[in-house]
Amino acid sequence: MWSYGDAREALRDVLRLSRAMTYKMAVADLPLGGGKGVIMLTPHTPLSRERRHLALLDFADTVAALEGRYITAEDVGTSSRDMSVIVGQTKYVAGLARGRGGSGDPSPLTALGVEYAIRACCERVFGNESLKGRTVSVVGLGHVGSRLAKRCARAGAKLIVADVDDGKRRVAAELGGRWMTPERAMEAETDILAPCALGGVLNDDSVPRLRCRIIAGAANNQLADDRVADMLAARGILWAPDFVANAGGVINIAEELGRYDATRARQRVRGIADTLRRIFDAAEASGSTPLTAAMELARQRLVPARD
Ligand code: NAD
Repeated sequence: MWSYGDAREALRDVLRLSRAMTYKMAVADLPLGGGKGVIMLTPHTPLSRERRHLALLDFADTVAALEGRYITAEDVGTSSRDMSVIVGQTKYVAGLARGRGGSGDPSPLTALGVEYAIRACCERVFGNESLKGRTVSVVGLGHVGSRLAKRCARAGAKLIVADVDDGKRRVAAELGGRWMTPERAMEAETDILAPCALGGVLNDDSVPRLRCRIIAGAANNQLADDRVADMLAARGILWAPDFVANAGGVINIAEELGRYDATRARQRVRGIADTLRRIFDAAEASGSTPLTAAMELARQRLVPARD
């Protein structure tokens, strides 16, 4: 659920997000296709509780009409509580609260997966996967970013944290991280940059100004376009493709759709590190970028699935 300037902007976003979901499911080797739903809000018009509830019900009707070809779950702007509204109209909802038979908010598992993506990148760049003493700049302290920041702090990393919402300063205080504006945190001298807000942050303007060795974060569609992957490689920055690094939530949801086992789900999410190792090896062997190697891995799985 997000504010868009107009319907075209929302449509462009949902198409890019659904493409990323398709790659994400394929690379994680899940028996699911890609899809994304967007609830478009009008900018600068706060929704009343009642209108928000009605918007969720409209969305639920759309999901119901797809009769299981699309399963929804929470993402930016929605929560497990919103999923309990939607489930009143359709059973095709994942990420429900545990009390309602689901596996709960997927964000903690997404954060776990991003941590393991960061570890795989550290291993490639610094020779070991330890986060002790590494500097991590987390941009966006929402459901995933705040948990990722906590995980990194616990693993001994030094933190820079940023959000457009000044109220998130308390996370910096709690974790002993340095608070910066998102613009400064993006350009800070750091080992790892973890974009955990919205997409498009890696672009022609931002990439020349980056001062990090690794980028691995939760945000979907971090690259303004695929060309940016080459720009990052030319600058010697290792980028973990977002649809690989942030798959922890959907891996957990895929487990929820079967017989849910929290320990197995976490184990599978940690496997994101192995998937990335395989992608980095393939990229090195073919002289391509991690994006190309990850898309190639997805295609190898999608073509037989289509045929
Ligand atoms: P969220 O809405 O809980 O948090 C987003 C945070 O980013 C908010 O605190 C917001 O204030 C901040 N923000 C917005 N614009 C910003 C900017 N320009 N600079 C800095 N901060 C900004 O969302 P979330 O669930 O934490 O998801 C974060 C990202 O990860 C999104 O791109 C989402 O699609 C992606 N993602 C989330 C999950 C999940 O399990 N929640 C899974 C996969 C991918």
